Amino acid sequence: MVKIRDADAEARMYKNVFVCMKCNAKTKGKTKLNLKCRKCGAKAMRLAKKAVKKA
Ligand SMILES: [Zn+2]
Repeated sequence: MVKIRDADAEARMYKNVFVCMKCNAKTKGKTKLNLKCRKCGAKAMRLAKKAVKKA
């Protein structure tokens, strides 16, 4: 995989992605408001964190 436009890829992967704080399921949404986990229905969502890159 060629590492170009890393920022774009990251934005695509992590922007608007939220993680359920109960079951850790990822859900895509434009905003945190009115967002519900598709798995357990919990409203406690947090932004997905970037994956740690290998050095
Ligand atoms: Zn959940």
